[in-house]
Amino acid sequence: MINLILFGPPGSGKGTQAAKIIEKYNLVHISTGDLFRFEMSNDTPLGTQAKAFMAKGELVPDSVTTGMLRNKVEAHANAKGFIFDGFPRTINQAQALDALLSEKGANLSALIALEADDAEIVVRIKKRGATSGRADDNNEAIIRNRIDVYKSETKPVYDYYARQEKSHSINGIGQIDEIFGLIAEVIDAL
Ligand code: ADP
Repeated sequence: MINLILFGPPGSGKGTQAAKIIEKYNLVHISTGDLFRFEMSNDTPLGTQAKAFMAKGELVPDSVTTGMLRNKVEAHANAKGFIFDGFPRTINQAQALDALLSEKGANLSALIALEADDAEIVVRIKKRGATSGRADDNNEAIIRNRIDVYKSETKPVYDYYARQEKSHSINGIGQIDEIFGLIAEVIDAL
């Protein structure tokens, strides 16, 4: 099994690169942001729970997020592997992921981080906001809050996996195919 975390600040290109990775490596893509938006658009209890946090650019509580992730992984018992996009976003979520994978007799292969500076990210998210219809992409204060939350809560996840020698950092600024080439080099060396 190949199990990857695609990591990086909001707007760093995780969704774009995830689409290319699943095509080449035949992995199951799990984006917690997409899952929450799906639940919200269907007005499910889970969507209602997530909504207030997402609207403010805060993290949805770990208990809610981790349960949803587990259900999704268990729905794909025969997967060749997974690409986790937007998860884990806290150390607590990382520990839950490790526990879940080890229950399945698997483990994390690598964390691949896309690096992009704050100025670039804000420009990209605002541009995306024009077509995404996402409320959290259309307000600068909320975008800044998401970046702050990333730095305080999520960045430590990089160091957590660096201690296991699994973290890889890639420049997320450049041509989409060029960035994908760098990601493929990491995956091919696993
Ligand atoms: P982006 O990476 O552009 O911020 P996502 O689609 O990954 O966008 O996430 C959007 C929002 O969904 C986050 O700001 C957060 O509120 C919620 N969310 C997504 N994944 C998680 C997670 N693993 N833990 C907690 N909240 C999450």
